[in-house]
Amino acid sequence: MTEATELRWLVIDGYEDEPAAFGVPPYVGFHVRYVCGVLERHRLPYLYLTVDQWRRMERQQPDEMAHLLKHALGVVCVAGAVVPGKYLRGTPISLNETQQLLRSVPSGLPVLMGGWAIRGWRQQGWQPLRPNLFLAVQDTDATLDRFLNTGEWNHRRRTAEQWTAWAHAGAASLAVRAHPDLHGVHGPGPLTFEVEVYQGCVRYKRGCKFCIEPKKGVPLWRTPEDIIEEVRLAHEAGVQHVRLGGMTDTYTYMAEGVRELEYPIPNPEPIAQLLHGLRDDERLSLLHTDNGNPSIIAEHLEPAEAITKTLVETLSDGAVLSFGLESADPSVHEANWLNCDPAQLKSAVRLVNKHGRVRGERGLPKLLPGLNFIAGLNGETDATYGMNLALLNDLRNDGLLLRRINIRQVEGEGFQPVPEAAFASFKATVRDTIDGPLLEELFPLGQRLSEVHWEAHDGRTRLPVHLTETHTSPEVHGRAGVTFGRQLGAYPILIGASYLIPLETVSDVIVTGHGARSITGLEVDLNPWTMTEKQLAAVPGIGAKSAWSLVAARAKASRKRGAAAPFEDVERWFAAAKVPLTPLCSVVMKNG
Ligand code: SF4
Repeated sequence: MTEATELRWLVIDGYEDEPAAFGVPPYVGFHVRYVCGVLERHRLPYLYLTVDQWRRMERQQPDEMAHLLKHALGVVCVAGAVVPGKYLRGTPISLNETQQLLRSVPSGLPVLMGGWAIRGWRQQGWQPLRPNLFLAVQDTDATLDRFLNTGEWNHRRRTAEQWTAWAHAGAASLAVRAHPDLHGVHGPGPLTFEVEVYQGCVRYKRGCKFCIEPKKGVPLWRTPEDIIEEVRLAHEAGVQHVRLGGMTDTYTYMAEGVRELEYPIPNPEPIAQLLHGLRDDERLSLLHTDNGNPSIIAEHLEPAEAITKTLVETLSDGAVLSFGLESADPSVHEANWLNCDPAQLKSAVRLVNKHGRVRGERGLPKLLPGLNFIAGLNGETDATYGMNLALLNDLRNDGLLLRRINIRQVEGEGFQPVPEAAFASFKATVRDTIDGPLLEELFPLGQRLSEVHWEAHDGRTRLPVHLTETHTSPEVHGRAGVTFGRQLGAYPILIGASYLIPLETVSDVIVTGHGARSITGLEVDLNPWTMTEKQLAAVPGIGAKSAWSLVAARAKASRKRGAAAPFEDVERWFAAAKVPLTPLCSVVMKNG
């Protein structure tokens, strides 16, 4: 940090959260990095704060916050989610908080607000009145650049040259170097660098009616070299994990015939160049991507297969390709100009399963499709949900795997009311008969999953107190409580452990149980002579009573043997406690 009295811009990262633009920690979004890139290029001093850091300062150091604002040259805030949902590690700035931020900024100071949430709140009628405040509806970075050059606020779009310049400057900016997730409490942090690969959708002439992507016109690609250079700069700044976002379809990156063809032809070369180019840098650890267009895959199986193989070779396991089917009902398909029909979907799901279902080093299938449904599309009837369910059953009867089924309800202009009873029954049936069995197949009991980052205690949301020693110290390990964590990457499964694990540490687990949308896990390689009663009770087949007997037998033996290990091996320990040794003990206990 620079001196607190130095005049500087204040950038507040309100976390973007779009399917193709992840920015909620551990992700750092690209739009806020471009804003920092503009300030870097103008050589202006600035401070980057996540909205969580701002919240903490507002609560715990209000004087310091007021001091920062008093000495600010201006404030930029990128707000990313119109209605923030439920998050584990950080929550996007809300409208109330945005208003609170505006009230705290000294009058007349330049304030620029941008991001999807600002556009959404404006459309809903939000019109804050204050001098020198500008709500960007185009590119926040280009708007800031224009203001810094001319002193005037105007809506602006970035040029291709500016895109590259600000992406590269942003990769080494404070949005990365000062991000709280770059360096963790116990070693490298989980920061994941979201990259914008391109903008727009190949269906720009006649795209899905509910979608805004077609309005962006002909897709704008960034070249593999440009992206690889951005990621190289991020590695220099300490980044290890990357997700390729900003892609409406991984398969049509630099596709052929985008202007002429209804189904442009996938081009395996540039995506291979990009993915292998990124992999060639040994500093890269996790690499994921997102979104595939099933109709493109189905219509061009040969090049799509080449791309699928490249994805499986280069991505980290657990990668998901979200497929937007939205509805299996042909009338809904027609009324909304949807992207793919059930036959195309099945063909695409089959291809991805063929290469992607094999497990990788983190214990997960390498690459699987996700499936998105939308409820509320024009033309829907009760029968629509029967067709959706029939398609899912069909896929499962063919033994095909899906990593996630996302059912989203939409409302408002351009949508129709949802047939409530049919919709509720569809959701419940999917949860019970499709999601549940899929979870058990994807994460079978006893499956080892590596590098789980532990993030919260006793609830599914990380709280400010979780960053204190009370929760991060090695001393809490094994005490009573519940710990939640996830592996890195796109759409990781939530893992719960039924005892405390120091937060912000990383460990491997085996799967010990399944919830509705989460699993329970138990760490492996634990030292049997220091395992607590809670840890022992978490081993399947042991339970609370036997855990107590084991602890009592171990304490008795320790008194006898002094500094030596209480038993020669785990077998003798279990025999002394009269507890049957379960098969999982040898996995869980280091010398068991
Ligand atoms: S295919 Fe996807 S990105 Fe393209 S218009 Fe449809 S929903 Fe939007």
